[in-house]
Amino acid sequence: MTVIRRVTFRLYPSRQQVAMLHCWRRLHCNLYNAAVYSRKTQYQKFGHSVDYFEQQNSLPAFKEVWPEYQNLGSHALQATLKRVDFAFQRFFKGLGKYPKFKSIRQYSGWTYPDHQCWKAITKGKHGYLELSNLGKIQMRGEARTWGRPTTCTIVYRPSEDKWYASITVECEPVRKTGSGVIGIDLGCKDAVTLSDGQKIGKPEFLKIGQRKVKTASKALRRKRKPDRTQKIKASRRWKKAQRRKSALQRKVTRQRADWLHKLTSDIVSRNSLVAGEKLNVKGMTRKAKKGSKRKAQKAGLNRSILEVGFGMIGQMLDYKEREAGGFYVESPTQQLKPTQRCAKCWELTPKTLKDRIHVCSNPACGHVADRDVNSAQVNERWARGLERASLGAESASSTSCGSMKQLAAKKRQKHRSGEGVGCETPSLSRAG
Ligand SMILES: [Zn+2]
Repeated sequence: MTVIRRVTFRLYPSRQQVAMLHCWRRLHCNLYNAAVYSRKTQYQKFGHSVDYFEQQNSLPAFKEVWPEYQNLGSHALQATLKRVDFAFQRFFKGLGKYPKFKSIRQYSGWTYPDHQCWKAITKGKHGYLELSNLGKIQMRGEARTWGRPTTCTIVYRPSEDKWYASITVECEPVRKTGSGVIGIDLGCKDAVTLSDGQKIGKPEFLKIGQRKVKTASKALRRKRKPDRTQKIKASRRWKKAQRRKSALQRKVTRQRADWLHKLTSDIVSRNSLVAGEKLNVKGMTRKAKKGSKRKAQKAGLNRSILEVGFGMIGQMLDYKEREAGGFYVESPTQQLKPTQRCAKCWELTPKTLKDRIHVCSNPACGHVADRDVNSAQVNERWARGLERASLGAESASSTSCGSMKQLAAKKRQKHRSGEGVGCETPSLSRAG
């Protein structure tokens, strides 16, 4: 299975190269703004809407007037015009506002959309990036799986004053998975609960990191911040505090990503069928209604949902299972109601957020379990039911009952068909 993955390397340009990179970034920024301006005025003055190809075709003439653009690579310039086009397309579809002019501070970099004008001299770990008309730049970083590089984006992060190369590669990732089946439940108290009773809490370092960010932003608030309308410049101390705060924030972000990757990789390495629940993170983290009495609680809940990165867990499990040839399924939360349902007898027991223990209301069952473990088990049982249903449907269509070998072959076939872009999941959920 060939997929496209993005790898980011840190660049270590020499002093002359830094000057050149900044110069090129400014040129790309100017081109972007010129393209926006051209579209705007052409429409306002002549009622003519400029499209991408018109701008692309005017590039050679543009380069004759501005010879400094000749070194940048024509496809990279086209990619910048594509960015303008993309912003306008978004606007025309009603998805975004009218494209703005960008200041150099907000302009992060440029893209090489194909193999021209750049070369990655690496086998996936460290190495050099060669840009034409600029030379070799040392780079550090490591890809999990390396392959054929396709595009390269040069990114400058002003708050760090560092340069990065974000390279997309076509690769075939290899990942191992176990034979287990597991259900997971995401919660606020314990970040992740597994159906075998294991609970994984929010890591301590995240809490500490967040506390530090809070202190740093308080220190920042006490310094003189810039104000454009009153023409007040930021104080030196404000700038310093700002740098400190953003450095801390970046660290927490990196730590969280690292933790999520380790957690999901561990789950995938042991289980080839993982059942989660469909979460509406956007709806769940919506602001509390105006005048709501529980505004503070809702804000706290939102924070804890976002802190753990619920949305990311599902996505990571999904792509990692697909790499390994396993499955990640999401149960329909609204219909299934995993928190209310009993994992043993499938009856519903209404609960509020406060009830931490599931006590089944069905007198014949009387199942007692931890609330989160129970709901993880409900997810697991639902996924097992799907698996049985889909296997049953297949064996019903064939006349022979089939030996284990045939069954395994069938399963393998199923896996292979499931390797497409998640085409298996919808049919599975219909069976449930
Ligand atoms: Zn029960």
